[in-house]
Amino acid sequence: MESIIPFNKPYLTGKETHYIYDAVNSGKISGNGKYTQKCQQFFEERYNFKKVLLTTSCTDALEMAAILANIQPGDEVIIPSFTFVSTAIAFIRQGATIIFADSYSDNPNIDADKIEELITDKTKAIVPVHYAGVACDMDKIMYLATKYNLLVIEDAAQAIDSFYIGKDGVKKALGSIGHLAAFSFHETKNIISGEGGMLVINDSRFSSRAEIIWEKGTNRAEFFRGEVNKYGWVDTGSSFLPSEIIAAFLWAQIENLELIQNKRKMLHNCYYDNLQSSNLITLPSLPPYATNNGHMFYVVTENSEIRSELISKLKEKGYHAVFHYISLHSSAYYSDKHDGRVLSNSDKFTECLLRLPLFYELNEVDVVDMAKCINNY
Ligand SMILES: *Cc1c(COP(=O)(O)O)cnc(C)c1O
Repeated sequence: MESIIPFNKPYLTGKETHYIYDAVNSGKISGNGKYTQKCQQFFEERYNFKKVLLTTSCTDALEMAAILANIQPGDEVIIPSFTFVSTAIAFIRQGATIIFADSYSDNPNIDADKIEELITDKTKAIVPVHYAGVACDMDKIMYLATKYNLLVIEDAAQAIDSFYIGKDGVKKALGSIGHLAAFSFHETKNIISGEGGMLVINDSRFSSRAEIIWEKGTNRAEFFRGEVNKYGWVDTGSSFLPSEIIAAFLWAQIENLELIQNKRKMLHNCYYDNLQSSNLITLPSLPPYATNNGHMFYVVTENSEIRSELISKLKEKGYHAVFHYISLHSSAYYSDKHDGRVLSNSDKFTECLLRLPLFYELNEVDVVDMAKCINNY
């Protein structure tokens, strides 16, 4: 049977084409124009990010971060195994050796207590991934970074409008804590531009070089601000900046951020309130230092057979539930390069994590119905 309720449906606010039309009419549709700057400024101000550059994807933002971190062949980078390929590939392209870390037993995020034992003389960076928009333990991770002089690059692809509450009680936006951070506006995320992303630069040592890498290795951005009287090729780089058409689309989403976030969080809470945990199904738990940004709702089943049966049961009722990452340490590309450590929590989430539909236009009645279907299992 064809699914009636999809896993995701991109939400359009209605203003996207209006702003795209405006960008097109302005005659300036390449990158770094009015809409790019409006978006960048919005994020800098709202989330206390030092500097933001829009990119064509989160993958690109991670690639920029790997270049800025000056990752060289043989350098080691610690990342969780339970993540999307982009987290690893950006560093692989610079020649890094990826040291995969395990997740917590009750949360897919990197287990911050098991990072220190992975640090060697070759370690250059830690890349925490805020899975489902839930914060990693940033105090512990930043402490290790200071102790061993490492860079922290947050993969905040799913973490827009989510926060970390530090031991000092101060609430900080995810993406504002690491030296660098990468976000995604892919159509599966909370706010979208089809494909799109941004790099956040919190450590000002990287600010001017980031602009150069962003603009094909040239100092064009400085030139346009009148800071230098000619521009040319000064460094490595690529074409990482999106066109104004994409930024204009994103601006319409930004204007509706509050609305989108409230609805998504409401749906998330609705799942949580209606589902019962049992010995077969565990509900997600939020660490005391994290907030919920309504990016994703998942359950963890006792074993993979239960997950398959739940997927079929939901499908019979017209609901499309899906699993998620296959641990990267056991991927076709990397398994023979992995050092052989068993990452049992990562494997457990590979086999047992089940994501339920969550998108702006999803109805509460469907959430209640899906919860009932799972409770009755
Ligand atoms: C979506 C996602 C990415 C990739 O984002 P793109 O914008 O598609 O490149 C990277 N990491 C994580 C954790 C993601 O969820």
